[in-house]
Amino acid sequence: MKNLLVFLLFIMASAGAFSQKVVFVIIDGVEAEVFERVATPNMDAIAKTGGYTRAYVGGERGGYSETPTISAPGYNNLITGTWGNKHNVWGNSIKAPNYNYWSAFRFVEELAPAKETAIFSTWLDNRTKLVGEGLQAAGNVMIDYHFDGFELDEKAFPHDKERLFIHNIDEHVVNDASRYIKEKGPDFSWVYLEYTDDMGHAHGNSEKTDDAIHTADDQMGRIWEAIQYRQKEKAEQWMMFITTDHGRSAESGGKDHGGQSDRERTTWIVMGGGQPNAYFTKEQNAIVDILPTALNFMGIPVPRERAYELDGVPLVGKVSIAQPKTDLAGDKLRVSWKAIDLEGDVKILLATTDNFEAGGTDVYTEVGTAKAGAEVFEIDLSRYPSDFYKVVIEGRYNSVGRWVKR
Ligand SMILES: [Zn+2]
Repeated sequence: MKNLLVFLLFIMASAGAFSQKVVFVIIDGVEAEVFERVATPNMDAIAKTGGYTRAYVGGERGGYSETPTISAPGYNNLITGTWGNKHNVWGNSIKAPNYNYWSAFRFVEELAPAKETAIFSTWLDNRTKLVGEGLQAAGNVMIDYHFDGFELDEKAFPHDKERLFIHNIDEHVVNDASRYIKEKGPDFSWVYLEYTDDMGHAHGNSEKTDDAIHTADDQMGRIWEAIQYRQKEKAEQWMMFITTDHGRSAESGGKDHGGQSDRERTTWIVMGGGQPNAYFTKEQNAIVDILPTALNFMGIPVPRERAYELDGVPLVGKVSIAQPKTDLAGDKLRVSWKAIDLEGDVKILLATTDNFEAGGTDVYTEVGTAKAGAEVFEIDLSRYPSDFYKVVIEGRYNSVGRWVKR
């Protein structure tokens, strides 16, 4: 009897008695200063179970990964865990996304096909263009459940100048997301809501924009209620991420965005559930951190060549290193990083090609190792002649990387 019990406990532990599920929400175009000023009791309560942090979008200002603070590039930063130089979405027309950088949905569907995925969205293109559902170039990825496209249904949602129809669609989307999460508990879901951005564009910093944020807070409360129901009734652990795709410019009074000002680049992340790690609490976080966090939490290991391409660092779980930097002087390349965990060594890897971008493979050379705590390594590039390098610093728990162009 005792042996059987031990055996059962072993089975439960090895199979993971709880299943880990994730919902991420993008509330469009809410700058951090406004978000922090407006009362959001529901999101405050959600953050209490995990954490809250300011974050940034826009890649490296003035650097090779600079990305416009525009909606679709912002969403794609999140769902691919990379900046525009990789995912190649520069505007809302989404002309030529590079699907070689997998979307979150492709990661989940390919690496953990038994998991159920869902999308609830006030913009159809998120599924059809950014994720690229059903497209061969995007791996024929299929999302198990979708609830979107209502902006095209002008009968049910007649378009009005005040854009109340967008609010109505957001409500429609949130109500279905809450219902579906409560009933089915999908493993990985994206909820996208637009009304806050519409109010920002029309009215800038104003009571109308504040009200739209209050409404979004109420909507988040409903989704959180569904999650709490699941956690109480089922053997499930959930994480919820709520974030935004960009801030807004001060010069326009909060109406516009797209540039690289602090207020356009500064965003925020509400994290429900999960134990924030030292990277979350001590370092500057970014929208690209959400994808690796979600995959980590769900226990989906990312293949090494794909992990090397991710621009984000997990916000929960063990992390070795973050904040990679490179400084080139002549043939001397100084590679530095922030050690989050001082234990162990890091490997410094170098590739002189970017075949990955075209669906191929890059061969990395290990050019040395260093103590994680050393935080710096110097490479003599004269031994590896090229105009272009991909540098990867690989720690015990995660890797970070950068491009270097001569
Ligand atoms: Zn936006």
